[in-house]
Amino acid sequence: MSDHDLKKAIENAKREKLKREKPLVYEKIIKLAEKQARGEPTSRIDIGYNYACNLKCKHCMANMFQKKDRSLTLADLRSIAEQADALGWCQFNVSGGEPLILKNFDEVLRALMPEKFHIGISTNGYFLTAEKAKHLKAAGLDKVMISLDSYDEALHNANRASDGAYGKAIAAIWNSKNAGLDTIIQHVITHQNARTDATVKLAQFAQENGFSLDLVIAKALGQWEGRHDVLIDAEDAKFLRELNQKYPAARRDVFPSYGMRGGCGALKGCFHISQYGDVFPCVFMHITIGNVLDEPLKTIVDRGLKIKYFGNRSPICLAGEDRAFIDKYMSRFYGKPLPVDYREIFTEKDDYIQ
Ligand code: SF4
Repeated sequence: MSDHDLKKAIENAKREKLKREKPLVYEKIIKLAEKQARGEPTSRIDIGYNYACNLKCKHCMANMFQKKDRSLTLADLRSIAEQADALGWCQFNVSGGEPLILKNFDEVLRALMPEKFHIGISTNGYFLTAEKAKHLKAAGLDKVMISLDSYDEALHNANRASDGAYGKAIAAIWNSKNAGLDTIIQHVITHQNARTDATVKLAQFAQENGFSLDLVIAKALGQWEGRHDVLIDAEDAKFLRELNQKYPAARRDVFPSYGMRGGCGALKGCFHISQYGDVFPCVFMHITIGNVLDEPLKTIVDRGLKIKYFGNRSPICLAGEDRAFIDKYMSRFYGKPLPVDYREIFTEKDDYIQ
């Protein structure tokens, strides 16, 4: 089977599974490519429902956001789900913090209407036992994204400041897969580790064992704030494209898939809502374009789409790859209390679609 056919076969199998398990989501998801072609947003919403976590990872950015008096409630989640459904959107991801630390996580899932949405979580895997994975699948969860900082146990544990973190993450990957959940290994790619055997081995491991590998390129944020040396360059990007051709399970979010155009999906293809309701165009852009506790989601998204970088589509990752965008805009929120209002970042008339 050619690489292209293999990729198609993987996508088709996932779509058939969705059609069987969640027909209402399937009906929406097959319309996304047409929506995109018409220039409409098709957004997957990442929700940092609660920033609480059991680990203290070096790279964590969740604690950088200013605390506010009001946080999202279950009723707010339901309202977001109803608004997103009315817009024809069909995908949520619950991040954090660590979502599985939440005692009421089943209620979080229910509030997000699992019959109408494909729902994933981003987790460190610590609490994802075999029983928990089966329970979550039965409760309507579809996808689990588990971070693996390195194929090397000692490096992963050091980064997570926890001796057991690697073992728990590996166990969680298998528990998730065995429960029938789509299982994604998330791995951060820096300029330093991009073109290495470790990256190739991880891609091979994912491909051979039925996982997906999400290659998340490094951003100069958090522990790397201002460190532009960790950003990938054109040669690294080329290497990752070739890796995807050899191992279709290894992919970046800018690669085309399911008949959708590739490129940066900031706001139009995905956006983040913080614990405090602020809407960021991308989980890595700590810029608020509005707050869902104050305004309808559509009003906020329509406002954001007037910013030309989000209303138009960039072929490369704005936050981690587009050096001009990073130098001019991302650097404007370095060292500031977060998030920063979009009007402090996009200050010129030319930043907006007229
Ligand atoms: S800026 Fe990068 S990480 Fe954010 S949506 Fe675009 S491609 Fe994805």
